[in-house]
Amino acid sequence: MANFVAQGISRKQIRAFTKYVRELCGMTDRMYFPVVEFLEIILPNLIDDFTYEIIEYSEMPDKEGETIPSLNTIKMREDVYEKATQGDGRARFTILHEVGHLLMHDNDRVALCRKSDKSPLKAYEDPEWQADVFAGELLIAEHLVKSMSVNEIEIRCGASHAAAECQYKQIRR
Ligand SMILES: [Zn+2]
Repeated sequence: MANFVAQGISRKQIRAFTKYVRELCGMTDRMYFPVVEFLEIILPNLIDDFTYEIIEYSEMPDKEGETIPSLNTIKMREDVYEKATQGDGRARFTILHEVGHLLMHDNDRVALCRKSDKSPLKAYEDPEWQADVFAGELLIAEHLVKSMSVNEIEIRCGASHAAAECQYKQIRR
């Protein structure tokens, strides 16, 4: 199995980037980040040739989503997309995870490269970790939730309990 390593990037850097993304679309103070609207309306405005596809379950049974940075394309499986439109926190996170790959792992910037030796990935080098951090930070904006409990974050940001808990801990470190 090939290992892929993205350029190392810290949570702090990813957090700054998600703040910039919120700024770009005028959502700096939006508690409930409109994930589906972001995918359907905002991203096509930010990225000229961006396209998204909704894929039938039978065509992509093993993956909830897939991103092809070189084509500026995100594919979301229909059940995940459907749940996100209904406000499901986990599905909302999954869409933003794919957006993270799209925005951070552009092939041109050589964010992904083949790792030659077999040493384990450091977290900050792992594109999956990076995409998860991006999703959590964009969904749950640090500057908006500082005084909130995990349950408040979950409800007001439309996040899963697990994501709310993770961000809660990160903000208090
Ligand atoms: Zn991923």
